[in-house]
Amino acid sequence: MTRIRASCPECGEVDLRPTDVTLHVVRYGEDDVAAGSSYRFACPDCDELVTKPADERIAQLLTTGGVEVEVAGAGRFEPVHPEFPPQGPALTPDDLIDFHQLLETDDWFEQLLSLTP
Ligand SMILES: [Zn+2]
Repeated sequence: MTRIRASCPECGEVDLRPTDVTLHVVRYGEDDVAAGSSYRFACPDCDELVTKPADERIAQLLTTGGVEVEVAGAGRFEPVHPEFPPQGPALTPDDLIDFHQLLETDDWFEQLLSLTP
């Protein structure tokens, strides 16, 4: 089994199994491993949760060693892109009232379907 050598701020060098380590990768634009990427492990000696920044090289090494990769999706780690707002007109209070009235009809679902192009 592959051993991964990492350093704990308390204990110094420690040996880990790939399953002890989680690689957290932030993808941003062209960068496969962007700033904010990190890896973390619970130190086998002191149980401290250690988090360290990961660059392209470290991510490559850990992945090759069989470490589980977690990629930042649309969650809290993903940068927001205000330059790409959703398409279409903004929702107005009138739209909301129309939608509310539509939902009170019995065939609202069919009506919705007939609205989609
Ligand atoms: Zn430790």
